[in-house]
Formats: sequence, structure tokens, C-alpha cells
Amino acid sequence: MDRNTRGAVAFTLAVAISVPGHAFKLKVESAGKEQRVANLRSVWSLSSLFGSSATFVLDNFWHDLNHEELTHRIFGCESDAEQRACAPSTNVGQFAPLPVLVGVRWNDNPPFQLEDDQRPKGCRGTTVKLPVLQPDCWLTVFSQGKKDAAAKADGSPGRFFDGASRSALLLRSHFGDMQFLHAMARRDGERAADTKQAILDWAEFTYRTATKDFAGGQYLYQLPIRESAGIGVSDKPFAQLFDRQKGWTVTTLFTLGDDTFRAQPAFSWIAFGSLLHVIQDSFARGHVERSDTPGQTCQMSYGAKFDKPGRVRAFRSYSNQDDGLHGREDGVAALEAHLLSPPPGAVEVGKVLLAMYRSNAPWAQVQEYLRDCVFDLEDPDALSGPGEEFRTR
Ligand SMILES: [Zn+2]
Repeated sequence: MDRNTRGAVAFTLAVAISVPGHAFKLKVESAGKEQRVANLRSVWSLSSLFGSSATFVLDNFWHDLNHEELTHRIFGCESDAEQRACAPSTNVGQFAPLPVLVGVRWNDNPPFQLEDDQRPKGCRGTTVKLPVLQPDCWLTVFSQGKKDAAAKADGSPGRFFDGASRSALLLRSHFGDMQFLHAMARRDGERAADTKQAILDWAEFTYRTATKDFAGGQYLYQLPIRESAGIGVSDKPFAQLFDRQKGWTVTTLFTLGDDTFRAQPAFSWIAFGSLLHVIQDSFARGHVERSDTPGQTCQMSYGAKFDKPGRVRAFRSYSNQDDGLHGREDGVAALEAHLLSPPPGAVEVGKVLLAMYRSNAPWAQVQEYLRDCVFDLEDPDALSGPGEEFRTR
């Protein structure tokens, strides 16, 4: 960004920020020490935060406090869908504890650091995270990643950001090998069964971290995810995902550069919040196509019986989706429609998971519920794509 662009950016952001009640104002509030750290470093400047990409960013990832609202509802907030009384951050503590919201937001906004050979140069070596830690670096990295990931004019696929290329977590989660953080396929043409397995792996990681089966100090690449299924060492998914991040621990992943929530029980809540994010996204139509199958129940082998959400028809992938069309399905009208549609949906499934977590249910029980009930597939071989109604035209 040159200086002139920055000037324009400053103006755009100032307008966005000054609109009373604008969702953005609430949504990117910082939580805890990172604000103080940022103040010390003097990197927090509204004038350098966002440019024209702001609309895109906001439309897609922090839309109207939807994740916050769903989370407060899971923790007991009730109000009519149209009123949004469960959305404001003033509910923090009254319903969902703050660390849960931090965890829910983490999937959209994971803190990261650029490595030595990564651009932009001036952003290397310190933590980048919205809203306060190097926000202009965040925007530059995100915008460039978005451009690089898009299909080329000749139809060839754009760049894929993964662990092997040591890409920033922000890019892996939106345009690469970690799109399961949003209940989405990693690329077009991925089998539904593979997307589902990646989601279940993340669910296992977050749930077992929340229940302290995994400790904050454990290295990610060594975590025995899927071990209960008796799968060989070579199939350890985190060994692949974090093969080139052998210094990263669970704590690094969730709280890089900010130790505000490293103590318990906050740390467990962050992990649990990240699980809730995936579940919530799986009910957004731009992410997952579900069929309408009311009145179904799931009988678990351990005796419990749960209402069953619509079966998964297909997972979407983001690379060839139109941003605006995707964003609309993440928006407030879509949320209201979801809340008014027949249960179970994101709130009811979240409540089941919360009850399981609070009763310290073993992962095997949670796994069975997610595998056979929440993410039951119509066709394991269904291939992911943008979804016709979301396709870039
Ligand atoms: Zn998401």
C-alpha cells in the first residue's frame, strides 16, 4: 500500500467506525491483553486498518455478530429471531463466557506470524491479528491471498495455501488446507467423506483439548488424533497438517502472542468455542448443503437419543464462490431464517455439545453424535463445489 492508498483507507474506515451500532464496531473489539500490547507498540491506528476490501472481509467473516448470537443462544439466551437481543457483546458473561466467544472468533481470525521469506517484509516476526495487532498487515496478507487463490483467467486453479508451504494460518483457513474450520471442503472436487473426516479430526482435537485430554504444551504434530479408531501412525492427520510447524503447541495455535486466556478454565473454553464455530458454519447454506429431513432422530449406542439435523448432501468449497452470494448466506437475514426453521439447527446441536462437555462425556460419545447424527452424509462420494447458486459468474 502506498501512502495515497492509505489516506483513502483511513477515510473509509473512519466512516465505517463512526456509524452508530455498526456491527463492525462490536465485532472486532479486542479481548484482553492484546489491546494493551498493541497500545505499547503503537501499531493500533484506525487510519491504517481497512480499505475497499473491508466490505468483503466484513461481509464474509464477521457478519453481523451471527456467531456471537448463536453462541449466546447455546448458553441459554432466548429472544425472538428478529430482535437480535442475543447478539450484543453486552451479553458477555451473562450467557456465553468471554473465552468461548474468543474461541468462536478464532476460526475466522487466527493469530499468525509471517516467516522470513514471506511478504510483506515489514510484517514479519510479530503477531498479526485483528483488530489491534498489525491490522494493515492482516489486510494486505488477506487481500493478496484472496487474489492468489482465485482461479486464473484460463480456468486453471489458483494457489493452494497449506502447511507444506508454511502459509499463514489466516490463508490456510480461508483458501487452503484448513477450510474445515468453516465446515467447508478444501477444494472443488473433494469427496464428502474426506471433508467430513477433516471436520471430525478438528472436533476431536478441540473437544479433547477442552476436556484436558490434550494439554496446552503438547506439540500439534504429535497429537494422537484418530488413535481410538486404530489408524496407523502415517494417518495421523495433525502430523501432516503441522509437519513443518514442529515448534507449535496447542497453546501457540490458540493464543499466539497473547497469554490472556492461557489459564484454565479459559483455555478450555477457547477450544470448545472453536468447535462451536465449525458446527455453526455447517448450518450456513454457503458452506454446507443439507436436505430437509424433519422428524428424524439418532439412536446412539450409549443409549442417548437426539433429534437429527438435515442430512449433509454436499460440502461447498470457497475458491470459486462469489463473495457476495456466499456472504449473503452468512448474513443476518439468513440467521433469522435459520432460527425460525424447524429444529434442530446450530443452536440445538450446540446445546447438545455443551451438555456433553459439561458432563465430561468421553470423546467417543461426542464422535458418534457428530459422525452419525450431525454430519450424516447422503452420499460419501458426493463431490464438493461452489454450489450452483454461489458460483462465480
Ligand atoms: Zn467460519
